Amino acid sequence: MTQGGVPLGRFFGIPVRLHWSWFIVFVLVTWFLAGGYFPDNYSWSEATYWGIGAATSILFFASVLAHELAHSRVAQAAGIQVNAISLFIFGGVSQLAREPGKPGAEFRMAIAGPATSIILGGIFWAIFFATEDPIEPLSAMAFWLGYINLSLAAFNLIPGFPLDGGRVLRSILWWRSGNLRSATRIASTIGRGFGYLLIFGGIYYIFVDLDNLFQGLFLAFVGWFLENAAVGSYRQVALQDQLRGHKISEIMTRDCPAVSPRTTIEELVNQYILISGRRCFPVVEDGRGLGLITIHNVKVVPREVWHSRTVREVMTPMDKLKRVGPDEDLSSAMQLLTDEDVNQLPVVEGDRIIGMVARENLLAFVHSRAELGT
Ligand SMILES: [Zn+2]
Repeated sequence: MTQGGVPLGRFFGIPVRLHWSWFIVFVLVTWFLAGGYFPDNYSWSEATYWGIGAATSILFFASVLAHELAHSRVAQAAGIQVNAISLFIFGGVSQLAREPGKPGAEFRMAIAGPATSIILGGIFWAIFFATEDPIEPLSAMAFWLGYINLSLAAFNLIPGFPLDGGRVLRSILWWRSGNLRSATRIASTIGRGFGYLLIFGGIYYIFVDLDNLFQGLFLAFVGWFLENAAVGSYRQVALQDQLRGHKISEIMTRDCPAVSPRTTIEELVNQYILISGRRCFPVVEDGRGLGLITIHNVKVVPREVWHSRTVREVMTPMDKLKRVGPDEDLSSAMQLLTDEDVNQLPVVEGDRIIGMVARENLLAFVHSRAELGT
């Protein structure tokens, strides 16, 4: 959802991308304004309707970007790296390298977006009152933009996670109880409830009030999206919570057969991979870890040269390897596996590879704990 899209450049060092679905929004908003809203309320020329319609759409987009940049700037001030901002059909998403570690930081970060929208709404309405003239396109544009920014703030302040208001609520509950998981559960349950409300509202529009078929579909779609996001974000927090406080050394695989860097790929395949069923081996020479060789490294080597290429030539060397220490937290291992999109990480102590931790180890850990109810 948030990957890909058209790069728009960097703002405060943060790359901003425009998801393709935003072009649908642009067309719909322009069409709604120029084809209906403006002609219904004002009498201008056809060219003015469309020109002002398109300009209003672009300023609407800039307003959403300002809202998202406010979240990101506050996150940066709290020492959290912002990887990117994506603008898509429902607005924007700031992709943070991590979640805020303290309720205060989360509160400030969450409130910054709606606060910006309220300020923008106030500015646009001030322009409207200053220029008020029933046929003046500038006034009309400022009025609609003021209205849309205030609506954006109101919608985002609904106290259901993962909306901004839900984050505000979560930060307050978290601050009072000190328990992030239960705070997230409450805020995301409200988020799901609100999602269902929108879905039922949408269905009502579709079947009862047929004039509003399009609004109904859109409402139901937003509701469905919100419900899914609420469930997904609670799962994420619950998983991180189960992993937190446990060390990698508790679950890592220790009996990793090491291979010598001088082993040929053919020997590696026949004497290690096919026999042990393992997919990944530390490369060790004189007790020192040199790197890691996995099935993925082997697969890119043409079969004809397996007998002449050595493990040293094909392995991922130690300095290019993402790795973890035995005393690190399981939640940080999970984060690294996800960020790097790999299936296993070597556990390194000094210059020795003392074990491996794989995605399966983490999932098995969570499953058995869930089964035992601990
Ligand atoms: Zn927001």
